[in-house]
Amino acid sequence: MIKVDDVKYTYLKNDKPTIKGISFNISEGEIFGFLGPSGAGKSTTQNVLTKLLRSYEGSINILGKELNDWKNNYYEYIGVGFELPNHYLKLTAKENLELFSTFYKKKVIKPNDLLAKVGLENDADKKVSKFSKGMKMRLNFVRAFMHNPEIIFFDEPTSGLDPVNAKCVKDIILELKTQGKTIFVTTHNMHDADKLCDRVAFILNGEIKLIDQPKKLKLQYGERKVKVEYSNKQSFTRVFALDNLGENVEFLELIKKERIDSIHTKEATLEDIFIKVTGHSLV
Ligand code: ADP
Repeated sequence: MIKVDDVKYTYLKNDKPTIKGISFNISEGEIFGFLGPSGAGKSTTQNVLTKLLRSYEGSINILGKELNDWKNNYYEYIGVGFELPNHYLKLTAKENLELFSTFYKKKVIKPNDLLAKVGLENDADKKVSKFSKGMKMRLNFVRAFMHNPEIIFFDEPTSGLDPVNAKCVKDIILELKTQGKTIFVTTHNMHDADKLCDRVAFILNGEIKLIDQPKKLKLQYGERKVKVEYSNKQSFTRVFALDNLGENVEFLELIKKERIDSIHTKEATLEDIFIKVTGHSLV
């Protein structure tokens, strides 16, 4: 669906490129994440891929066609969720969605149905100027897929949302995947990348440092150990090697005799791995 080959992007007034030769492919139905700290080049990449920034170097093939050859009908096939909400503040939520729906030739999802998806069904007739930041973010989010696009780009989709609404947004992204959508997500949040992405690219200073599946990375970089917490008036912790755990007499005795509070494998987090690979944290 998306093939990016050695792409560079230089902002007009700069002499050095911000995006320094990145390459990756995204398959149909895949959620691909760009994970990196603020200023890494995530939004710039998204803006190039959505044609908001032009004149890139290298090659970007989307839906079988070089991006430069796509005309305005490109926006019938892709949806874009921007990091910052941009709405008509004097219009209601429903009026905003109705207005944006006129930009598309395709049939769109009904505004009330979109609003209900993110818990805004009772705010349809409220002016957006009266919306909180989180409500604006949710309205912004549903606009990205109102026209049922094949590919959807989400820039920091959970930023500014409380945990309940962030979960709602993540669940919808996973639901869009089950519908076969191809999804590009940028985030600096390792939990989002972990929960959502089939594969994640680590980006720093306009360069991709690594691309892999979160699960594989966590296993590869984690310690092959299991931590057992148990209590007996006091709390205790023991760590055992994962290898041959089923034959480890001490471990077996412990779980038989003691009151176990928790057992966890010592997987690395994506943030741990990001730091190990790039030498830089995600904040
Ligand atoms: P991220 O989305 O990862 O936070 P950005 O893509 O927004 O990163 O920014 C990458 C770099 O490009 C930053 O150093 C930022 O200051 C710079 N940048 C962003 N927008 C512009 C612009 N319009 N002109 C010049 N430099 C910019």
